[in-house]
Amino acid sequence: MRLVDRSRPDRVKRQLSPEEEAAVRRFCGAGQHVHAADAELVAAVLEEMHDGRQVRQWLECDCRDAGSAQPRLTARVREEGPRHFVRMHAYGEHRCALASFRAAPDDEPGTDDDDAPPGTHNPLKPIGDALDFLDNRHDGVAGPRNGNTPGGGPGRKGRRLPRLGRIMYTLLDDAGFSSVCGDELTSGQSSWDRLNAFAAGEAMNASLTLAHVLNTKPWLDVSAKMTEIDALPWPDSKERSALLLFVADSIEDGVAVKQTRYGKRLVTPEKGMRAGGRDWELTQPPYWVLAVIDRDREGKARFREAFAQHAYSTKQPVPLDSRYERRTLDCLLRVIEWVKSRGVDVTLTKPLFDREVKQLDGPSLWCRPDFELTFHSVTATGDAGQLHRLVIETMGADEPEYLERKSRTHEIMKQRGILIEHRVSDDTGQGERDDAFFRRVGAKILDLAGL
Ligand SMILES: [Zn+2]
Repeated sequence: MRLVDRSRPDRVKRQLSPEEEAAVRRFCGAGQHVHAADAELVAAVLEEMHDGRQVRQWLECDCRDAGSAQPRLTARVREEGPRHFVRMHAYGEHRCALASFRAAPDDEPGTDDDDAPPGTHNPLKPIGDALDFLDNRHDGVAGPRNGNTPGGGPGRKGRRLPRLGRIMYTLLDDAGFSSVCGDELTSGQSSWDRLNAFAAGEAMNASLTLAHVLNTKPWLDVSAKMTEIDALPWPDSKERSALLLFVADSIEDGVAVKQTRYGKRLVTPEKGMRAGGRDWELTQPPYWVLAVIDRDREGKARFREAFAQHAYSTKQPVPLDSRYERRTLDCLLRVIEWVKSRGVDVTLTKPLFDREVKQLDGPSLWCRPDFELTFHSVTATGDAGQLHRLVIETMGADEPEYLERKSRTHEIMKQRGILIEHRVSDDTGQGERDDAFFRRVGAKILDLAGL
């Protein structure tokens, strides 16, 4: 294995030592047993590859025949979580332990115990390997790799996020639909461009990318789409399928409805629609919908199944967990606008994946606040001042058991930032509670920003 220059891949930076090579294969080969020193060796290689701002080098493997092109790995850093390897499927598949890949040893599904201490659950993370956007061949929808995703913070037994939900969250997160910046309060459109750019960059083999698979126009014709998919070079281990992501106007009896420029379109998934978050009745539109298009046993093209997630509005489709959160976001958007007029730019994030809270004396804990607000102190020089974070929790009229689990994770969230709760219930006092919440959050931001 060797490190090559990203901009000039024919230029070899250095060969990895045998110890480093073995560490990379044990660390990232699914099912491999990791040695004590591996994590440190892997972290050092990743640091050489990615300087924290951009990728400088790729790691080229040596598992294919000498003289032929070798598979490559790149390094990725997300806002949350450490640097990690990503396979570059455009350069061919591995014949070594990395043919079966994991980003880190703890990424493999483990046992997930609802009664485990708060924050110690298997964290929910974005999809890191482009091939995981496709179904494995022959293992159907309910196979172990296609089953529910572990993790998910405070939940209810049996309410794990389906795999399709994790795909949706990854797409929305990467496109920036899950965040709002003070200076782009009317955003939305740019995120669709970012979604397309992200999809085009997710290579699945030498000529196939996620952009070939992902569609965003609900008026597409499933038969024509599958004919197109059938003609593409496809990874051997994967079923041929496509994805459709859009914001539906409503969901009626398991059918997603969208008014388009071509009239009213219906997306009717044969195997049903599953709901994310806590809005299971799907009666509070609009909704994000991610549908899988494939062929049934008779070869007929269809929408096989779909996943739906509450969205704030059609124009600003921030994914939300419930109508209670919609009320909180109403207030927060007003706060952001107000503090902006006072000179503070706040970025609001709806975390779709678990946030890591590092511990001095043990393994990291994980939590997923309902919202996070980040902003800098205002300085006289105009330079970016200290970064601040507020953690916002919506306390809606949910079951007591859920609220109890939620509050158990609040101690962990307080290590990420100042926690402010917003109580939402269906009584006449909500207007007053909203006003108090608005004042409290606004005052806290101005105070921390030094105004
Ligand atoms: Zn290899």
